[in-house]
Amino acid sequence: MVVFAHPDDAEIGAGAVAGLWAKRGCEVTFVLCTDGGSGSNDPSMDSQRLVALRRKEQAAAAAVLGVARVEFLGFPDGGLEDDRAFRGAVVRMIRKYRPQTVFTHDPYRMKGFQHRDHRMTGIVTTDAVFPYARDHLHFSEQINEEGLKPHKTRRLLYWGADEPDVVFDITESVDLQVEALYKHESQVGGLKDSGRDAEGRVRTRAEESAVGQAFKYGATYRQLLARV
Ligand SMILES: [Zn+2]
Repeated sequence: MVVFAHPDDAEIGAGAVAGLWAKRGCEVTFVLCTDGGSGSNDPSMDSQRLVALRRKEQAAAAAVLGVARVEFLGFPDGGLEDDRAFRGAVVRMIRKYRPQTVFTHDPYRMKGFQHRDHRMTGIVTTDAVFPYARDHLHFSEQINEEGLKPHKTRRLLYWGADEPDVVFDITESVDLQVEALYKHESQVGGLKDSGRDAEGRVRTRAEESAVGQAFKYGATYRQLLARV
């Protein structure tokens, strides 16, 4: 499961690993937390049109990666809070799809600016994984009224970490990541115009992540493991 704030965050943070694992038979669920309604530099674009467009782009990007489904939580872009409503929504996703591994934004990143929605998503997802989704007395209405069961996620992986401690070989799937990223046409257009093309950035970062490894392209994460 990949829990992320805005359309295209999942492709940037975990696109290559999601695509690779889906190809190898994993069931991958994307959980998009906001509606992406603020992500435009085009003054003629209004929020309603943008939301519909980005939803379509997100579905197309997920399809490229072989993701089984995208769940749209629909919170306002720029409006995520570390509150019960958001936490409950992520807990529900975890209990419904019962992932072994969850990917999300590293909320504790200190180096450089990070979007507030990214921090909120990272914090809320961390808390949802442990202990809220696991313990039946948290959000017990989901269990009593919706028929869900508590779920223990084995592993949490943060992208964007200052000090990553695991690296995956994505040599086989970096092309897929680039292809998926380009499905977010309303976003990568801007990146191209500014002369920093998205593909170049993805490949450079993946190459840097694989320095010292026996493979060419890598994706790095900071890992939290639950005790068995
Ligand atoms: Zn974002």
